[in-house]
Amino acid sequence: MIIQILKETDYTDEFPVFAEAFLNELKKMFSEYDFLLTLLNRNEDLLRPCYATSSFVLSERYLLRIEDINKLLMTVEDGDCVNVITKSVANQNGILVYDECFEDFVLIPIKYNQLLWTVLVCGKKHGKIKSDHINIVVEIIKKVKKLIYKLLTYEKKQKDQKRKELLLQLTKKFHFTMDVSAILGEIIYASKQVFSTFEIQLLLSHEWEVSEDLQVQQLSYSKDKTNEMATNAYLTGKIHIESLRKRRNSIVYAPLRGKQGVYGVLKIIGRHSSVFKNHEIEFLEVLADTGGNAIENAELYQQSRQLVEDLQLINKTSHQLNLNLRLSETINYMTKQIKLSFNAQEIGFFMFRKNGQIKVIEGSTKYFLKESSTEEISPFFERIKMDMDALFIGDLASQEPHLLRPFRSFIAVPMVQKGELKGAVIIVHEHAYHFSFNKFKLLQSLIHHSTLAFTNSMLHEELEKLVITDHLTRLYARNFLDERINESMEKDAYGCFLLIDIDNFKQINDVYGHQIGDDIIIQVANVLKKNIKNTDIAARWGGEELAVYLPKADKQVGELVAQRIRKKVKEVTKPKVTISCGVSDWKQIDRDKSLKRLFRYADQALYKAKRSGKNAVVIYGDDIVNTKKIWS
Ligand code: GH3
Ligand code: MG
Ligand code: MG
Repeated sequence: MIIQILKETDYTDEFPVFAEAFLNELKKMFSEYDFLLTLLNRNEDLLRPCYATSSFVLSERYLLRIEDINKLLMTVEDGDCVNVITKSVANQNGILVYDECFEDFVLIPIKYNQLLWTVLVCGKKHGKIKSDHINIVVEIIKKVKKLIYKLLTYEKKQKDQKRKELLLQLTKKFHFTMDVSAILGEIIYASKQVFSTFEIQLLLSHEWEVSEDLQVQQLSYSKDKTNEMATNAYLTGKIHIESLRKRRNSIVYAPLRGKQGVYGVLKIIGRHSSVFKNHEIEFLEVLADTGGNAIENAELYQQSRQLVEDLQLINKTSHQLNLNLRLSETINYMTKQIKLSFNAQEIGFFMFRKNGQIKVIEGSTKYFLKESSTEEISPFFERIKMDMDALFIGDLASQEPHLLRPFRSFIAVPMVQKGELKGAVIIVHEHAYHFSFNKFKLLQSLIHHSTLAFTNSMLHEELEKLVITDHLTRLYARNFLDERINESMEKDAYGCFLLIDIDNFKQINDVYGHQIGDDIIIQVANVLKKNIKNTDIAARWGGEELAVYLPKADKQVGELVAQRIRKKVKEVTKPKVTISCGVSDWKQIDRDKSLKRLFRYADQALYKAKRSGKNAVVIYGDDIVNTKKIWS
């Protein structure tokens, strides 16, 4: 018979093939009986029904407890002999599960190397089992038990090997990817390799962007039964096995565990009447752990990249702030950076004055520069003043529906220095929940790092207005110049004003750096000082623009001085720069003489000088069309 089986199965080394042929062969010999093979599941201390002749339905109900069988065996024998447990002995020891389908049955435990591997159940639906028949079965088993043992261990080894290979491949792949979606795909793929006919689901605790064909679901915390098991597996980080009586199948919930947390649950739903074997559960556990760790690594990698980006932003910004630019330039830079990093639509920088006034700083975006917006923001500033804390509003429409429309996402971060509120930054976007909490934190730390530099340069700008001399050039400051022209307009008959702008200065800064740029401004300022009279006033107009006022001088004198300065600048500056100059004048008889007009005319003339090709002086005449351009 054994030879027959081996021939039929082509000398198989696969246990399932052998087991089926073996049971069929027994059935052929004893057609009035049914045969059932249960296999050891060491993890559960159970013998699970795995193979049976066709008229018998495999089911969870026919589990045998190892403990029960061993107890029975202790009373009858030792060693590897094959023994038979009759129905009455089984019943006496509480084994009743086969009573429902057989009128009579015997259990034949098969041992090898002192270990119980399997129990063969032989049952008869109607009538008694004959002991002669059983004796024959026992004799056959004595012959095949070594083979059964070998095939079983071989199968186990092979399966282990295959799974190990699969896991190894998986781990290798995980090493090369930092993409959560790809990792999840691999987890599903590997599960399908091992559990090809089972339903596989991935329940995730985070919202990752995964490709649509991946069958993933969000892990929800609702109370219904199946979710409860998944939630339990997620919360405890332990594998859960659920046996469903009705459908007679079981479901495994394997948590995707990393070192720092659990990222989801792998749910495998067994087919009807199928039960998970030990090694399958072990495999799932390793698979889920490997996956969990890979997800964690990918997450950490993304986080660290984000962190590096955030640090770079803070670093770059502080560097820029330390360049000692004018406040408006700094704000311009910050606005650009914040727009980029935070994807904000409007950005406002505000300064809180001691008298309670709030000033929008130049360089803020359009929306905040409008006067109407000041009113809309003030309720937020009241809150900031009260709490001295940042405001993070996901949806303005639900909190302050009338304010700042159409914007819905809102962050306001105060600038606090030594416990004093110095100002605030606001960013908005018209989509609700546009800014993440991480971005909120990032803006806080960015502002925290730049507040000192900000307030210093705000203070500096304020102070500048109070001092008479400009600290860089040692020329007079703008407000002092204004005062002196006003005085002159009152007492003198006429006067002349020169507005000077260095040509292509941006380029100088770009090529040589700001320090050299500053030095050139000083050089030009020195040319001015040397080429005017004591009673004239040279001033820093702002940035790289300088101005000269000549009291009691007319246009002709103004032109002369302007040309002298223009030529000298070209001669002496190093690196060489040129200037353009607009000249305007006033006379006592002018009806609408004013500072504003004097400046405007000079500015228009300067504009013409620039348009005409730079390195030029243009005099504003009574009619701007008649302006004179004098080339060197
Ligand atoms: P144009 O010939 O048309 O005047 O060209 P420009 O490059 O000079 O253009 P513009 O006047 O618009 O730019 C002036 C630049 O000068 C802008 C700013 O970066 C730089 N700047 C302004 N103030 C200072 C300063 O105090 N120091 C330095 N180093 N650079 C300044
Ligand atoms: Mg300029
Ligand atoms: Mg210029």
